[in-house]
Amino acid sequence: MKIIRLKPGKERSLQRRHPWVFDGAIAKGGADAGETVRVDSADGQFLAWGAYSPSSKIRVRAWSFDQAQRIDSAFFRDTLRRAIALRERMGIASNGLRLVHGESDGLPGLVVDRYGDTLVAQFGAAGVERWKDVIADALLELTGCPRLYERSDASSRALEGLPAVTGWLRGDGPTAFELQEHGWRLGLDIALGHKTGYYLDQRDSRGTLHDYTKRLKFAQVLNCFSYTGGFSVAALAGGAGHVTSIDSSGPALEQASANLLLNGLNPAQATFIDADVNASLRQFVSEGRQFDAIVLDPPKLAPTAAHAERAARAYKDINRLAFKLLPPGGVLFTFSCSGGIGVELFHKIVASAASDAGVDGAVLQRLGGACDHPMTTAFPEGEYLKGLVIMKKL
Ligand code: SAH
Repeated sequence: MKIIRLKPGKERSLQRRHPWVFDGAIAKGGADAGETVRVDSADGQFLAWGAYSPSSKIRVRAWSFDQAQRIDSAFFRDTLRRAIALRERMGIASNGLRLVHGESDGLPGLVVDRYGDTLVAQFGAAGVERWKDVIADALLELTGCPRLYERSDASSRALEGLPAVTGWLRGDGPTAFELQEHGWRLGLDIALGHKTGYYLDQRDSRGTLHDYTKRLKFAQVLNCFSYTGGFSVAALAGGAGHVTSIDSSGPALEQASANLLLNGLNPAQATFIDADVNASLRQFVSEGRQFDAIVLDPPKLAPTAAHAERAARAYKDINRLAFKLLPPGGVLFTFSCSGGIGVELFHKIVASAASDAGVDGAVLQRLGGACDHPMTTAFPEGEYLKGLVIMKKL
């Protein structure tokens, strides 16, 4: 067993059960990609078992903090079993859910979503890449699903020195799927869609928009970064008068339009705009347009903390423009899914955008990712998705 020895004083985060060891914390030691290593403090005390990743800044990701734990097939099977059992216990009313959420489930880099009887997995780090076959077999056995599609094409794979890989890893079948959520039908494609096919993490917030629409009777809704129109369906199903959806992906908007029809919603109450949200918001401001509710759900603008400053400016800009488009009593649903931007910073950015727009806002609610994307106390980075519901004061 290869040993990674940390520099003095660098043992604290592992002692708090945070699973990452950065390259700068290591005094000596190395291993092959994904190889299991033992991480010791500078004075030779055992800290964790982990997977070594020679080309990543996150040089080791911990599997276990228990010295007696063996990192073998049984370990993966048991960790997966517990993650899946947790979702069963959550009782989520949808046929699409996240079974494994990486570090939060003790399996750094692994994401597994279940769509009906099809599993879709992302192997995002050297450790889970090395154990891929063991993980795939255990997943089929534990879920009873006959097929697993691999979507290891996230840009973060490159940071691990891994190439993009997609395709059936076990079994095969159709890649189109109809998701059921809050009683709506949402078409998606696990091979062609973003991430594993859908943004399951926004399930609760789509429900929240639906509830607000019913209560506040929004006439005009603007859904920015709409993807396949989940929030658009939510608003129209809640009785919105009209929804304008903007996205820069043509195929996503085609699916969004199809999703409206799937739910028996009236296409005359919907406008789809294939454009850059920034440009559209500026145009709407110059035209003096107003929307009673606006959803801002941009892509990850700051994948890591290093991008935070530039991303902060981008977040502030779109939020400032959105605030200008709200009439008094209008409501902004604003999100950030950037791991590099914490909750407090996000709140500060949105507050300063409101102030620049001359808007006094009442925070009605704080939002986060759905419960099948849990965060844990040891891994605050798991709280990547945060949102605010803000009403422009009368
Ligand atoms: N709210 C969606 C998920 C949004 S993901 C849901 O609930 O499913 C972010 C979306 O932003 C993606 O669909 C992507 O195509 C789009 N996008 C990224 N940059 C954009 C830009 N500058 N202008 C418009 N859309 C953009």
